[in-house]
Amino acid sequence: MAQSVLTIDLGAICANWRALAAMNAGETAAVVKANAYGLGAGKVAKALADQGARTFFVAQAEEGVIVREALGTGPTICVFGGHMDGDAPLLRDANLVPMINSIDQMLRHVEALPGHPFGIQLDSGMNRLGMEPAEWAALRDIALSQKPVLVMSHLACADEPGHGMNEFQLQTFRQMTDGIDAPRSLAATGGTLLGPDYHFDMTRPGIGLYGGLPFVDARPVVSLSIPVIQVRDVNPGESVGYGNSWVARVPGKIATISAGYADGIIRAMGPKAHVWAGETRCKIVGRISMDLIGVDVGPVKEMPDTVELLGRHQSVDTLAEAAGTIGYEILTSLGSRYARRYIST
Ligand SMILES: *Cc1c(COP(=O)(O)O)cnc(C)c1O
Repeated sequence: MAQSVLTIDLGAICANWRALAAMNAGETAAVVKANAYGLGAGKVAKALADQGARTFFVAQAEEGVIVREALGTGPTICVFGGHMDGDAPLLRDANLVPMINSIDQMLRHVEALPGHPFGIQLDSGMNRLGMEPAEWAALRDIALSQKPVLVMSHLACADEPGHGMNEFQLQTFRQMTDGIDAPRSLAATGGTLLGPDYHFDMTRPGIGLYGGLPFVDARPVVSLSIPVIQVRDVNPGESVGYGNSWVARVPGKIATISAGYADGIIRAMGPKAHVWAGETRCKIVGRISMDLIGVDVGPVKEMPDTVELLGRHQSVDTLAEAAGTIGYEILTSLGSRYARRYIST
């Protein structure tokens, strides 16, 4: 079998959620947008609901419908994108709570679904989603009279604890919301780690649940094991892969492994990335192809049947660094061709 196996440890996700929940006194929600960062929104949400998570966040109403199917009635599912044109039947039938981002969305919501729960998203400086201070000032009294279930905002630089933007956004959020009755939320994973000033009534971690930075103490969640299809000897002067970009200088041994950029293994990481053959770190050589990657296994004594790209030896963030990106992108790029195995340790 040449199919790679992606193992997802739901027990580790739950442990990470509990660890983040223990850091704050309020409610800890779970962000499961983008199919739970590529790991399977239904399975992840179900496992976390069994741990006691009561509120889930997705980006779009369509994602919320999938999470609702997995969770059944009970948990609250919130939609960051708010109430978009055409969303009303989804929001109603799956009982989703849109985070209203503008006066236009507010009007659409009260018109299409009067009495249906909603939250408010405020822009405290990131300029991405939510109402700006002036817009909020105009709508605030009417919106609050309709009892939003949550008033939230999002931090732009929470993964840099020393960044002045954090304090600026905290003050802006406070100015916009101090004294209101509705529950408030500002922190995702990074904000949770910034400390109690940032916690308010609810935190909304995503990446920390899935084992990524900035939650340094997270338990690893994913491992990816890739079959070795073939091992060959190369002589000095012989090249490997498309474009002859890598040429052997000494006699060596090359393993061809069964995964490539079609599986989310970003082609640009090739020159800097490694895989692990047992306890030996092996360099990726030559260009990453669509379905195949060459690996220098010269130093490997006993060649295993599979190599590890993610797992005990290598985190999503280590791999992200090789690709010049972040762990979030590595996770959400994980391919659909993998056999997905769910475990709970
Ligand atoms: C994605 C997202 C989160 C979760 O962020 P992490 O950094 O993954 O913890 C929380 N809130 C909003 C608005 C988001 O877009």
